Amino acid sequence: MLTLPRSLDIHRNRSAEQKLVDKTREWLERDSKDRTGIHASDLLDPRKAYFDKKFPQPMTNRMVGLFFVGKVLHVFFLSALFNKKGVDWKSDGGSTFDKDLGFSYSPDWDKDGVPGELKTSRGKYEQSNSDLGLYLEQLMIYMAAKKSVKGRLVVLMTSLPAPRGEGWGTYPQYRAYDITCSTADLTKYRTNLKATRLLLEKALKTGKFTDLPLCRPFKCGRSQCPHFERCQPPTRFGVPKWER
Ligand code: SF4
Repeated sequence: MLTLPRSLDIHRNRSAEQKLVDKTREWLERDSKDRTGIHASDLLDPRKAYFDKKFPQPMTNRMVGLFFVGKVLHVFFLSALFNKKGVDWKSDGGSTFDKDLGFSYSPDWDKDGVPGELKTSRGKYEQSNSDLGLYLEQLMIYMAAKKSVKGRLVVLMTSLPAPRGEGWGTYPQYRAYDITCSTADLTKYRTNLKATRLLLEKALKTGKFTDLPLCRPFKCGRSQCPHFERCQPPTRFGVPKWER
């Protein structure tokens, strides 16, 4: 171990931190500029998608941090999965428009018509199947678009405790899941997707958003959603728990 000089002065530079966040935001926003029309992810919480499209807001510091790490890990994962030399940024691009469903979608990969999706999670505990709901909602969109009753989900858990016998602390670990559903349920999901897309399109056209369902709770609240004041979600707006 080397001895550090006693004169070493360490000063946390908050303005440099903010500049780094701003640079990262600029890069992320530039990268997502050409996303027009309705995308698969808009159907997960269509009410938020409505406001994001009508009143685009700059990304918060929190969003910048989360999106940046997620995006970088994504590209690294896909480059490793497809045996690329170094990092291939193109592996994370391109989407397909489904005429019948009326939106574009972009699964992370597709092997023999079976779509796959990578998610990253900072969770510190092993996830149960019920924790995978939001990931599965998204994967099911790709399965429905591909008309595949099979799908693959990989979750990179970045802070999972080391398994017994592998030392202390945490390290990033993959969890991989093979997903299947019945043909009848896949058809129902497609119908549901079309209905949600039509509802969102109608709201975007008329400006009447109240028919759109409320978003999932963890996305909502004054400090969580930049549209809280415009949206005034019933049963939440004005309620102390959601106003924090
Ligand atoms: S305030 Fe809540 S319900 Fe309204 S758009 Fe934001 S997250 Fe969705």
